[in-house]
Amino acid sequence: MTCFQCGRTLSSDEIAVYRRLVNRAAAECLCISCFAKEFSVTEELIRQKIRQFREMGCTLFSNSAGS
Ligand SMILES: [Zn+2]
Repeated sequence: MTCFQCGRTLSSDEIAVYRRLVNRAAAECLCISCFAKEFSVTEELIRQKIRQFREMGCTLFSNSAGS
């Protein structure tokens, strides 16, 4: 999947955080950079959210950082 604004290839985390925060069933997603601009937040905040959701064990996120 690619970002529907800039066309960059998305990581699974970018897809997951977009779905988690915006729309669980989103067929199109934004990369972290475009997400930050669209919602007037920092990229760092989005990265924190990714960590937070992963720590919560959210099933949308791959657990590549763990085990
Ligand atoms: Zn983008």
